[in-house]
Amino acid sequence: MISEIIKESKKIVIKLGSNTLANEDGTLNKDFFQKFCEQVQGLMTQGKQIVIVSSGATISGVATIGKWARKKDIHYKQALCAIGQVELMDAYRRAFGKYGINIGQMLLTRDDFTDPNRTLNIRNTLFTLIDEGVVPIINENDTVSVEEIKIGDNDTLAALATNLWNADLLILFSDIDGVYDKNPKKFKDASLIEKVTDINELLKNIEIGNTNSFGTGGIATKIEAARKVNEYNIPMILANGKKEDILLKLLEGTEKGTLFLPERRMKKW
Ligand code: ADP
Repeated sequence: MISEIIKESKKIVIKLGSNTLANEDGTLNKDFFQKFCEQVQGLMTQGKQIVIVSSGATISGVATIGKWARKKDIHYKQALCAIGQVELMDAYRRAFGKYGINIGQMLLTRDDFTDPNRTLNIRNTLFTLIDEGVVPIINENDTVSVEEIKIGDNDTLAALATNLWNADLLILFSDIDGVYDKNPKKFKDASLIEKVTDINELLKNIEIGNTNSFGTGGIATKIEAARKVNEYNIPMILANGKKEDILLKLLEGTEKGTLFLPERRMKKW
């Protein structure tokens, strides 16, 4: 079913978490960027339009400057993002550049989704970039976002962007195959839930464990992201971005994930 959903979707938002982009040592996995961009290019040649929501500014900042990893001061955290965001975009630019694809950076805050004027502006920019074949890469503007005005995690940001663009599908890539009945990093016997049609029911039946070293939102924000897009009748897939050629394999139906299917779409499937 995941395969069919991807095939029939033209406008796709893909979110990459820090765990997906980073090596074990916290550096950016350049190899991943190349392979991922190659798959995105493959989808684009099939006529699909792609928007990327990417985490990873903080880890790139730490990897670049080689210090401040443990600083709690907000200014240091924001400084790390300022440094890391450049590195992050450089990695995307190089990887997409091989295919002659241009990228555009959009750094957003919560206000961009609540103030009608700002929302209209970002919507127009987003549509213009996409219409011109440019791949927008969205991240939270951490250098200006203090706690009070933060969206807070990129799962939520990806869901808001999906609804704003009126996309056909949101794909979240993490370092796990999908939602499990309990934390798969802790329990070897955790079992994957492949299809979710009732989020409240799901929450009653699973255990939510801790996140990984670089993760922020955890599985809870991913499930809430699904709720947000499902409300707009848009499906969401959660899958493992660390797996080789995952986008293509999901498309071919040879890899698994969790599909969150909105009720109205269920009738069709
Ligand atoms: P990302 O950085 O990719 O956004 P996070 O680390 O924030 O990802 O969240 C994913 C993590 O949530 C997984 O690596 C896993 O360890 C943890 N987790 C906890 N409970 C569950 C569960 N029930 N199903 C799946 N993952 C879970």
